[in-house]
Amino acid sequence: MLSLLLATTLAAQSVPEPPGRGISESLARERAGAVSNLRYELAFVIPVERRDPVQGRATLRFGLRAPHRIVLDFAQPRDHVRSVRAGGADVAFDFADGHLTLPASATRAGDNELAIEFVAGDEALNRNDEFLYTLFVPARAQLAFPCFDQPDLKARYTLSLDVPDGWQVVANGAEAKVDTSQGRTRVAFAQTQPLPTYLFAFAAGKFSVETATRNGRTLRMFHRETDAAKVARNRDAVFDLHASALTWLEDYTRIPYAFRKFDFVLIPSFQFGGMEHAGAILYNAASVLLDQSATQNQLLDRASLIAHETSHMWFGDLVTMRWFNDVWMKEVFANFMAAKIVNPSFPQVNHDLRFLLSNYPQAYQIDRTPGANPIRQPLANLNEAGQLYGAIIYQKAPIVMRQLELIVGETAFRDGLREYLKTYSFGNATWLDLVKILDARTPQNLAAWSHAWVEERGRPEFTTTIRADTLGRVVQLTLNIRDPLQRGLVWPQRLRVAFGFPAGVREIPVTVTGSTARVPKTARMARPLYILPNGSGLGYGLFILDETSRQYLLQHLEDIPDPLTRGSAWVTLWDNLLESQFTPGQFLDLVVRALPREGDEQNIQRVLGYATRAFWSYLPVEERTVRVPALEAVLRAGLDRAGTSSLKSAWFSAFRDIALTPAGVGWLERVWKREEKIAGLPFAEPDEIVMAEELAVREVPAWREILQAQLDRTQNPDRKARFAFVMPALSRDPAEREQAFARFRMLENRRREPWVVESLAYLNHPLREAHARRFIRPSLELLKEIQRTGDIFFPTRWTEASLSSHRSTEAAATVQDFLASELQYPQRLRWTILSSAGELFRNLEKTK
Ligand SMILES: [Zn+2]
Repeated sequence: MLSLLLATTLAAQSVPEPPGRGISESLARERAGAVSNLRYELAFVIPVERRDPVQGRATLRFGLRAPHRIVLDFAQPRDHVRSVRAGGADVAFDFADGHLTLPASATRAGDNELAIEFVAGDEALNRNDEFLYTLFVPARAQLAFPCFDQPDLKARYTLSLDVPDGWQVVANGAEAKVDTSQGRTRVAFAQTQPLPTYLFAFAAGKFSVETATRNGRTLRMFHRETDAAKVARNRDAVFDLHASALTWLEDYTRIPYAFRKFDFVLIPSFQFGGMEHAGAILYNAASVLLDQSATQNQLLDRASLIAHETSHMWFGDLVTMRWFNDVWMKEVFANFMAAKIVNPSFPQVNHDLRFLLSNYPQAYQIDRTPGANPIRQPLANLNEAGQLYGAIIYQKAPIVMRQLELIVGETAFRDGLREYLKTYSFGNATWLDLVKILDARTPQNLAAWSHAWVEERGRPEFTTTIRADTLGRVVQLTLNIRDPLQRGLVWPQRLRVAFGFPAGVREIPVTVTGSTARVPKTARMARPLYILPNGSGLGYGLFILDETSRQYLLQHLEDIPDPLTRGSAWVTLWDNLLESQFTPGQFLDLVVRALPREGDEQNIQRVLGYATRAFWSYLPVEERTVRVPALEAVLRAGLDRAGTSSLKSAWFSAFRDIALTPAGVGWLERVWKREEKIAGLPFAEPDEIVMAEELAVREVPAWREILQAQLDRTQNPDRKARFAFVMPALSRDPAEREQAFARFRMLENRRREPWVVESLAYLNHPLREAHARRFIRPSLELLKEIQRTGDIFFPTRWTEASLSSHRSTEAAATVQDFLASELQYPQRLRWTILSSAGELFRNLEKTK
């Protein structure tokens, strides 16, 4: 009996589970445990015609301690596999659920070699008529070639590309050999450093190449911009920004740039701001090549984006997360480093204010909704990894990391990061590996701290209790902190409570360690005009203002002398508006009164954004026509007053987005027709495109002629194609709009995701809300397919564009019905829907 049982157990162990769909964590563990010293030799032949298939050949070399089954990821139909050879001989294999499986008997202990000929899938190749580029994050390399598509099987890649004559190519490695005979271009690239599949990349096509030398290093910029003046205006700044980021990072980390050569590629309508492929960063062209009218925010955003992607060369590329549940780490470090890098180059900017305004509003936007998710979440299968990305990773995590640096101390924190990067160079590490390194450098319990901030979702809710004596002097001020999700969580953090007095602002530092915190040094302090618990924007939470402070700020916010305190007051008031502490009308009254006196460009930008949002999403519809004349007047006056083109651009954009009076819309139309010039504000093609779109959605009588004329006068072919795609979504004819939506059911029509998101946003514009209700249910029904077929941000952007303009009870009911009828819907997608519908549901509660 015993021996029989043993034999059965052994048999069960030697026939492993089929891998199933996607890449499960158990499959990844199995492979990472078995496979070592992995190298890929890859060759792709790219035809002239976009619809002809890309042919490929992959040779994988790796070590095994013992014969072991090999499961490769290749998410294509079986017939895309042409041949499989192991050790030089044809070999039988299984093919199911996007996996190509070889039995252990086809392998041996020691070195193994597999050679596979295949047809590459197009999904992650982003093929256009004149160019293509790969985008494999998080686990999409498997769509293009057979591989181990997981971050902890790093490999060295040797790539060769065979492309149409006249095309440029760029990849992670340097070009080692170029052959241009027989009407084709064949390029062999040098072997790369060890990289995970999601960082392996190439681009090929009709690109122009700019080259520069900085600090002895050659940098190249590939682009497709047709406006030579625009390139000339931007190129030196773009190279300088990369060079200074590299120098700063080498100094901070004490580790030289590891990937030998440094190129970047500007892609029109790229899905993200940028993607940090080692040695070959991809950027969204519009984020890097700025128009003359660029705002100060856009200049800063560009510098931050470049510093962000460059930081990834250390954080993410050199040391990579073991599994995608820790993808947030590389993002937070890239953002964190970017802030440190960019700040000295913009000495005129208030960086604490910038940190506040670029992180808090977006993080709160998710964390206040029922769709809030923790920073670090379990991830059972990589096919769900895309849903991890969002404001919690990009905006909340930097706030959390700043708190961590405060606890550990700047120098100890930097030294910890150096140790972490050095220890895990060219390898993988988890968040807990870093916590361990940092924990050794501080007396605090970082594991407990990490639990509340990193492993759990949501934010604390703060209220204040003031005890005053008979003379109105403060006797005691207490912060009360509560977990709105009733888990009893405590978020240890540092705050600076601001007290406003006629003579100025006084800040008192407070350390929160429990559910109440007494603010020190307040005894017999004169009664302040207001108390702003998050004075310098250091803490994180929902800060409900006391009655006196709220009233004071609504009446006198503009009197606060310091821009950072004003910025924090705006952010706090916005949260209090959404908590129904006062009305959208009161908020817009404050905007109309305070905005003309706001001198800080960052605050102006933020308030313009809030005003637009309050106007379209919160103000009762019947109040729009009543309030819009005053708003238009403030915006036009701001435009006239603004001293720089960047400020003018900010005021103009807000006017363009809000304008509703016949006079306002008429003026906008004359500007678009170039009959009116705005002194100091030159317009480029993208500006005129947006104007035409905003005029069309307002259904000016000549809307169709305007769209056609804009299409005709658009020169840049990529922008022209995008505009032609978006046009039907702008039509006044509801049937045309329904057809515009119906196109999205076909994958082929969803390939250019920014085009789709822009179309969807216009279909659901607040002015078309009633008609657009019919799109809600089908949009939600398509979401699962969109997650399966699209890039990582697409599900969130799709949902946001579908839901964020809606406010009716019918729309809310449609979303609720959908969630109630689709109980099996994936949890992550439910969170995505709940986040985007957060404000819709909030509106519903208020009308109840
Ligand atoms: Zn990033």
